[in-house]
Amino acid sequence: MKTPADVVLHNASIYTVDAGFTTAQAMAIAGERILETGNNAYILQKYAARHIINLEGAFAYPGFYDAHCHLLRYARQLGEAHLFGAPSFTEVLYRITQYHLQNPQCKAIIGRGWNQNLWQPAQMPNRQALDALFPHVPVLLTRIDLHAAVANRAALALAGIDEHTQIDGGIVEVVNGQTSGLLIDNAVHRVEIALPSPSEQEFSNQLALAQQHCFQYGLTSVADALVTPPDVRLLENLYLEQLLQLRMYAMMLATEDNMQFCFERGRSISGQLTLRTFKFFADGALGSRGAWLHHPYSDAPDTCGLQLLHEPAFTNQLARIKQHGFQAATHAIGDAANHFVLNAYAKVLPPDNNLRWRLEHAQIITPKDIELITKYRIIPSVQPTHATSDMYWVHQRLGNRIQNAYTWRRLLQASGLLAAGSDFPVEHINPLLGFYAATARKDVHGRPPDGFFAEQSLTRLEALKAMTIWAAFAAFEEHERGSLQTGKLADITVLDTDLMTAPLEQIPQAKVLLTLLGGKTVYKC
Ligand SMILES: [Zn+2]
Repeated sequence: MKTPADVVLHNASIYTVDAGFTTAQAMAIAGERILETGNNAYILQKYAARHIINLEGAFAYPGFYDAHCHLLRYARQLGEAHLFGAPSFTEVLYRITQYHLQNPQCKAIIGRGWNQNLWQPAQMPNRQALDALFPHVPVLLTRIDLHAAVANRAALALAGIDEHTQIDGGIVEVVNGQTSGLLIDNAVHRVEIALPSPSEQEFSNQLALAQQHCFQYGLTSVADALVTPPDVRLLENLYLEQLLQLRMYAMMLATEDNMQFCFERGRSISGQLTLRTFKFFADGALGSRGAWLHHPYSDAPDTCGLQLLHEPAFTNQLARIKQHGFQAATHAIGDAANHFVLNAYAKVLPPDNNLRWRLEHAQIITPKDIELITKYRIIPSVQPTHATSDMYWVHQRLGNRIQNAYTWRRLLQASGLLAAGSDFPVEHINPLLGFYAATARKDVHGRPPDGFFAEQSLTRLEALKAMTIWAAFAAFEEHERGSLQTGKLADITVLDTDLMTAPLEQIPQAKVLLTLLGGKTVYKC
């Protein structure tokens, strides 16, 4: 008598990513969980399944986990003008004009993804041409890193911003006594919230589409690094209606109101949507010189970036978060930001704890501060593609401090694990680009030939763990996901490529053949 199962996968190379990094050829699944893995003959003889899937020699991995991304933002962007890769501001103007023609019903033009580092000269844009083209329609165009934007006069007016406006944690640029339209950090947010947003129905459809993109790229779990209470209410409904299945670990923006909202509800932990983490921002980003540095920018000697958190307020909030059993995750890019955050964590946490507080990005960090990561068992959450996107201009910003930037090997030695994400839509959604950037430290064109500070690269094994089991650990989910073992969720990504042995330069082109979530096919190529 054979043991009943729902699905049997066989004829595959299955990387289980268990403690011994064992491989298998076949797997039996019942309901949403894994019954057993083993060799082909053993599994096929032991189990009688309704669906038997011959993977024809393909390669299976635990479902990929993006440990830091912005799914909701990505979904919103599906309804916005795409400015990614625009080689000039003229091209930006062309794209938004096209967008406006195609979406005449839009009450505002929201665009994302410009990057002045691709332009000649690499100058930040202003609102002049936007005002001429769109005198009445509000326009807000956000930089690729989301920390800077250019808005036209109509959008500034809607947000009540003029040349006298002061915004805490943000900058409204004024040139010759007038707003230039350029906004940094909280000033961007001020305009964002003033603009008309899509209807709930439109947004739900965009989220469903965003989820499909995740499955298509083999992602079965994502950590959304910024949600608010209205997002949570909408997400809960969408899970209830089963419009969403993608597993999500949501980080709540840490404001006083939001903390109240979460403390009253308590932590909510489930296989669909988990809410147990608060997200802080210690600084902005490097591209827009918002990252908070100890010493001035090498290419802008009058600024050290933006300090977005202050003491003693931050430590007080951390203490309450700890008391309520929540986790803290703090965005820290600059060396001063990382120093500030780690020292605040150190005031609240006991040494050698298992509370798994996270440092999001951990981008520029001194060896001295890295010692605190070890002592307080902080988890660095890194985005490998940031390094290979930033490497063309980061030296100008940092000078010699580049030695302390994107030091994944050092961070891994300090912490024992890294959680890897993409930060999409800041970077591309494809997690294999992260795997490639982590291991090769090159961009997709193979530059630079020897890799960017290649000594800081991860091994393939480490890179795979960072996007599976370690990402799950950083979210307290390692008992449920992150490896393919008996009793765990059958979240599986099947590729045409062996990530452990294929030439590295082939990995960005690897194809997802099949994605299973809880034993069910959610994507098939
Ligand atoms: Zn982010």
